[in-house]
Amino acid sequence: MVVLGTAQDGGVPQAGCACPCCTTAANDPALQRHPVALGVTLSDGRRLLVEVTKALSEQLWAWGRSEGLAAPVLPDMVALTHLHLGHVQGLGEFGTEVMGRSGVPLLASEGVVAELAHRRLLSPFEAVGLDAVDGVHFVRVPHRDEHGDTHALLFEGASRRLLFLPDHDRWETTLAAHDCSSVREWLGRLEVDVALLDGTFWSGAELPGRDMSRIPHPTVQDTLARLGARAPGDPEVRFTHLNHSNPCLQDGAERQSVLDHGWGFASLGQRWDL
Ligand SMILES: [Zn+2]
Ligand SMILES: [Zn+2]
Ligand SMILES: [Zn+2]
Repeated sequence: MVVLGTAQDGGVPQAGCACPCCTTAANDPALQRHPVALGVTLSDGRRLLVEVTKALSEQLWAWGRSEGLAAPVLPDMVALTHLHLGHVQGLGEFGTEVMGRSGVPLLASEGVVAELAHRRLLSPFEAVGLDAVDGVHFVRVPHRDEHGDTHALLFEGASRRLLFLPDHDRWETTLAAHDCSSVREWLGRLEVDVALLDGTFWSGAELPGRDMSRIPHPTVQDTLARLGARAPGDPEVRFTHLNHSNPCLQDGAERQSVLDHGWGFASLGQRWDL
């Protein structure tokens, strides 16, 4: 499995934004970030793309390069966690105008599939059930589900179990939904070795002028407070889905604090053998 993107839906730089982070990134391609996506090679060799972002073309090239290929990877299957813009924005590129694909197996919930049909985005795809692929499990999580439901994905390989949780509303509701009282207990129950967790915002004071209660995510500060320092036997935790406003995008006290606790950040091209 390879990390193909680490930013929130809008990427970095975000459209129309002149914040210091976006301005610096607009002028330095090395600092630009694609929205979250993963490339997963299944045990039977099929390639599963998780999330289809606006950076699809670059991400398929990055996937190919990560495997030493001089060509982009053509995914055999697609999985989606939910319908928010950044996670589905590139779906249309599988169709006639660009890739001209058909019958691509799509792993997504019934609610997500129904809404994609309504948006006329399904023609390149063939929806298959959530249980269609061995070793890929959908884990329901609460997240402002105005268009459809939201899942985390749990990948179970021969050597590792990896959780991909880019978006959820708050730990209280996610943990309650799974009858757990702590993040550590939940990750332990899922038996994960690696957890890629929602790191959208550092703190609740990050978007002056916007009502952050309308775009809830657990803050990195909150997750750090719940986890404390990494202890022997803990999984590897890496934050992903960072918003352009998150100070952890730059070196500084916030980013260092995550590292000092023994956790980290997902990065483009990072790989785990599952
Ligand atoms: Zn998102
Ligand atoms: Zn910005
Ligand atoms: Zn979302």
